[in-house]
Amino acid sequence: MASNGSLNSAIPEGPLPEKWTNYKNKAKLINPSNKRKFSVIVVGSGLAGGSAAATLSELGYQVKCFCYQDSPRRAHSIAAQGGINAAKNYQNDGDSVWRLFYDTIKGGDFRSREANVHRLAEVSSNIIDQCVAQGVPFAREYGGLLANRSFGGAQVSRTFYAAGQTGQQLLIGCYQALEKEIQKGGVEMYKRTEMMDLVVVDDEAKGIVVRDLITGEVTSHAADVVILATGGYGNVFYLSTNAMGCNVMAAFRAHKRGAYFANPCYTQIHPTCIPVSGDYQSKLTLMSESLRNDGRIWVPKSKETAEQIRKGELAAYDVPEEDRDYYLERKYPSFGNLAPRDISSRSAKEVCDEGRGVAATGLGVFLDFRDAIDRLGEDTIRSRYGNLFQMYEKISGDNPYKEPMKIYPAVHYTMGGLWVDYNLMSNLKGLHVLGEANFSDHGANRLGASALMQGLADGYFVIPTTLPNYLAGVKPGTVTTDAPEFKAAEADAKERIDKLMNIKGTKPVDLFHRELGLLVWDECGMARSKEGLEAALARIPAIRKDFWENVRIPGKADSLNMELEKAGRVADFIDFAELMCHDALDREESCGGHFRIEHQFTPDDEAVKSGFTNDGEAKRRDDEYCYVSAWESNGPGKKPTLHKEELEFESVELSVRSYK
Ligand SMILES: Cc1cc2nc3c(=O)[nH]c(=O)nc-3n(C[C@H](O)[C@H](O)[C@H](O)COP(=O)(O)OP(=O)(O)OC[C@H]3O[C@@H](n4cnc5c(N)ncnc54)[C@H](O)[C@@H]3O)c2cc1C
Repeated sequence: MASNGSLNSAIPEGPLPEKWTNYKNKAKLINPSNKRKFSVIVVGSGLAGGSAAATLSELGYQVKCFCYQDSPRRAHSIAAQGGINAAKNYQNDGDSVWRLFYDTIKGGDFRSREANVHRLAEVSSNIIDQCVAQGVPFAREYGGLLANRSFGGAQVSRTFYAAGQTGQQLLIGCYQALEKEIQKGGVEMYKRTEMMDLVVVDDEAKGIVVRDLITGEVTSHAADVVILATGGYGNVFYLSTNAMGCNVMAAFRAHKRGAYFANPCYTQIHPTCIPVSGDYQSKLTLMSESLRNDGRIWVPKSKETAEQIRKGELAAYDVPEEDRDYYLERKYPSFGNLAPRDISSRSAKEVCDEGRGVAATGLGVFLDFRDAIDRLGEDTIRSRYGNLFQMYEKISGDNPYKEPMKIYPAVHYTMGGLWVDYNLMSNLKGLHVLGEANFSDHGANRLGASALMQGLADGYFVIPTTLPNYLAGVKPGTVTTDAPEFKAAEADAKERIDKLMNIKGTKPVDLFHRELGLLVWDECGMARSKEGLEAALARIPAIRKDFWENVRIPGKADSLNMELEKAGRVADFIDFAELMCHDALDREESCGGHFRIEHQFTPDDEAVKSGFTNDGEAKRRDDEYCYVSAWESNGPGKKPTLHKEELEFESVELSVRSYK
């Protein structure tokens, strides 16, 4: 097993393609009659948590599963649109486990752990089989075979999909499996219940403190092991494509109790979202990346033409072909409109910064289906993307069959998360983290259709194998909620609620959230600089002070109170934003979704001169920054301590990432 300073990543020995097989062959087992003696808490019932809870219960463990929605079926996973990757090579277009592994490593700008990513690629095929067996209605070819489409950062077609609602169909499959176990008594489901704290006893995670969101009651639950599958933190930016409830509370409270937070500054800005339309908007809408299979992205070549379009004096389809700049096809001829998200997003920002944006705000580019409709016919396009086109029309009022969509990058996914080793266990023993909540396999940039793959790999296949490794060394049922650590954590949670309720200020929670979101978007969003990050770090304490003195939470704590829920989440976002900025400031390089304007290729660089990459592309500094940043909390307002997991690449050569 590999160890890295204070962080032991527990990567199995042996050649990369054999690590997971060897691990499984030698992994510790727990015999069936002993499994039922172990209790497992799973927080989260999205694709990662739901699949883990159902599978662990099927194996015989006693599972308690928690979510804050009124049904596991409403987890944010349901929003996923475009698809899920797997190295099945059904298209016979050259795909393989190795290629999916390599695309993911390269897509993540060489900032992920090789062993985990290879395992993910290996497991990907099993996921499709599992979901088909559950009855997930993946799209099929005319002859009945499963269909595929392409996603960014890959030159093969390996994405399985169910129209534009893949997440919903996968979640229904997962939910059925979970419901079966609930019915059987293997899973006790706690809905409308929010985890407020992690309880650590003798340096091991042994339970959680929760608040019943309907009655306000605060209680504790003990178990032999705790699994967090609580999703991502994109809503720190206020506006994002995430569900409104997505938050960082569970992960951040675990962080405050000792779990390291890895790469918090790695956030994904998705290139194809409906542009912001006004100051009082609370949500952004994704237009799935799958649309880039057939849609072409362009802006006018001249600022003047763009200006005419913005003023409504010229229609997009009246712009002649020679006046259009299909900038992704021009800059990245081999990947074209399927360039990865970080690169496509930055390119959209670039053309808009040049004054060539087409939305009323100047922040928008065209995603155009004219050529695809001419080539394939409207019916084919409707069968592929009908629900997405309908959604676009309902929101924007424009008919995308008749005029191009307008899109712009928006916050979408978070690659950062709690640090985990190969077993998916954090540095805090017993605490396991799955899905978007862990720092995951995506490095500095996630490829499209890989989040669903990772969440389901973690829940259906990885954790059932790795959990016994920890449990085999644990005596079941030794800790109960009578332990003083539970009483103390419960008292902390109640005190925090009282403190929030007693502020009785004048400013609504959303005001603080919006202010914080704009700040992190401006300074820790698509482009970051030392100066901007330092300014943000100077400003966040003032936002925190204002919040804790002036926030107004109407209603009571002992009943349903959505403002109180929001306040708790925004308080954590404020502290968390500080952590993100510290991380972004430390990382003096550009990689994937983390673009430090000080570190970009210039015309003097050899790679630009040789035509391998372009002036202005992200410039990594492998000699100094080839590590995972794992931050230890020292409390709000105090600089966290950085621990580094050096990334070692044995099978892949670090290279300048090019999609030309
Ligand atoms: C619009 C959109 C489209 C997407 N499309 C795709 C796609 O096509 N392909 C793809 O691969 N990825 C896609 N993604 C990304 C993908 O959907 C997510 O990364 C993934 O679904 C996350 O799953 P999860 O199980 O980790 O978390 P979630 O689905 O977010 O589930 C989190 C769970 O944790 C619970 N929870 C959170 N905090 C607490 C707490 N404090 N107490 C109790 N419970 C808590 C919630 O109730 C919920 O049950 C998309 C994302 C968006 C926003």
